[in-house]
Amino acid sequence: MAWACGNCGAQASRGSVTFDHKGRTVRERCQHCAPEEFDSAFRNPTDNRIYPGPQAMPHLYKRDKNDVYQAKDELLADTAAAWEKGPTERAVQAKRDTRRTEPLTPEEIEKTRHWAEQVLKPALQKGGMGAAVAALNPE
Ligand SMILES: [Zn+2]
Repeated sequence: MAWACGNCGAQASRGSVTFDHKGRTVRERCQHCAPEEFDSAFRNPTDNRIYPGPQAMPHLYKRDKNDVYQAKDELLADTAAAWEKGPTERAVQAKRDTRRTEPLTPEEIEKTRHWAEQVLKPALQKGGMGAAVAALNPE
């Protein structure tokens, strides 16, 4: 669905709108008038990849003396606060609507076991977690 950018007027599929505290639009940008704001892979939902935290939010991580990424206090505090808040009403409702209550059938167990043996295990042995994630998310 295209959207008309308020800054340049282009029809864009991706944009950024900044509002003030009263909900008035302060600024609009799109991939045409501010491409530098949309060149991050993480912000491109069409690439179907899973990004690790430091790659997705580099400003929220720092490297320690062993060159290992560590979450900054700000990220830890935000995560703890989100954890304290618990699930959203929408998440609770989605769980209610989609929760499975019957046990797996023997066929389902066998099918899953077969998939784990034939697809997941070789992927893990060949390429570790990255390959396993790719196996879980085919095209
Ligand atoms: Zn624009």
